[in-house]
This record gives sequence, C-alpha cells and structure tokens, in this order.
Amino acid sequence: MKKAQRYDYFLVLDFEATCDDGKKINPQEIIEFPVLKVNAKTYEVEDTFQQFVRPVHHPNLTAFCTHLTTITQEEVNSAKVFQEVFQDFRQWMEEKVGLDKRFLFVTCGDWDLKTMLPSQCALYNIPVPPYCKVWLNIKKSYAIKKGDYVKGMYPMLDGLNLKAVGTPHRGIDDCKNIANILRALANLQCEFLPTYYVE
Ligand code: AMP
Ligand code: MG
Ligand code: MG
Repeated sequence: MKKAQRYDYFLVLDFEATCDDGKKINPQEIIEFPVLKVNAKTYEVEDTFQQFVRPVHHPNLTAFCTHLTTITQEEVNSAKVFQEVFQDFRQWMEEKVGLDKRFLFVTCGDWDLKTMLPSQCALYNIPVPPYCKVWLNIKKSYAIKKGDYVKGMYPMLDGLNLKAVGTPHRGIDDCKNIANILRALANLQCEFLPTYYVE
C-alpha cells in the first residue's frame, strides 16, 4: 500500500539551461522545459509537457552544454523563445492539469524554481505564477526516509535500488527518474509536503 497523499497530482519538473565548464553564463537561460503530470494515487504519468527553448542572450550553446545535456544547437534553433513556451506551459496547466486541482511541484533540489524560473521570468518582466512558488525538493523526502541528504539524483536511485532511465542531464529523462524516486518513496510510506515557498 502506498501512502495516501493530500494531492491529486505531482508535477515533476527539471529544467536544463545554458552552461559552460567552470564559468557562469549570465544571464543563464532555460533550454529544456519538461514537466510530468503524475497521478498522486497510482503514480502513473498522465500527461507530459516538454519543449526545448531557444536562448536569446547566448543563442549558441557551448560544446560543454551540448555534451552535458545532449541538447543540440538545431534543437534549440527550431524551438520557441521562453515567453511563448511559458505561455504554452500556463495553458497546459489550465487545460491538462486544472488550476482547481490539488497539485505539488516536485524537483531535485531548489535551483529550478528558486533560482532559474524567477531569473528567467525577470528577464521578460513576466510574473512568476503563484502555483510555481511552492514545491517539494525530493532530496528532503529521501533524507527523511533514509537519513542521508544526497547531492544528486543518482545516489537516490542507488539507495532505492532503481535503475536509471534515459540520459543524465536531459530534462525529460531527469523528470522520469525523479518520478520513479517519488513512487518508490510513496511505497515506503513517505508523505509528500512542500519544502519551500517563495514570496
Ligand atoms: P541537471 O538538472 O542536473 O541536469 O542540471 C540543470 C542545469 O544545471 C544544466 O542544464 C546546466 O545548465 C547546469 N549544470 C548541471 N551540471 C552542471 C555542471 N557539471 N557544470 C555546469 N553546469 C551544470
Ligand atoms: Mg535538475
Ligand atoms: Mg536535469
């Protein structure tokens, strides 16, 4: 039996962004925007939002970034810019999730929704929707259950005897692995609650 949760859906999100080896790219921009809608009773993925995003401040991906993420220049060149992708995401939230539903965003760490989304929205003067201002950092659920606050996703997969799927640092694959960790922790009777709120 899985632990009953106070949510209808978990929205597993993992951004990929422009980057370079050992150097900061300023401003850093989102290049992949994936979200899985996970049923909070069955842990099945019921819908997926996934788009690449074309960076405009640093339109050319570094070799390091393509190597890390496997995202190619062609993929971002043919993608929409952030304003359009974010509009599509908000529409997906309304049509495929439902703003009246009880949902909780789930990420691996706080960077995605604490740092990356607010800074990306600030570049375009887009307000961050209130529903993106609260989330669960899955590393905290893992730490409560296993007594070990780990750095990344792979030690959690190991600790739960889960096989990694897909390619590391591909946002959609990272989301699938986070969803598998979530399901495994639910089987261990974890209750999922928010771990962070921003103003
Ligand atoms: P992740 O979700 O772990 O794939 O990381 C999200 C983003 O953080 C990546 O798209 C990169 O922009 C950045 N990042 C992750 N790992 C590194 C690294 N080793 N060096 C530089 N940037 C990184
Ligand atoms: Mg990540
Ligand atoms: Mg990732």
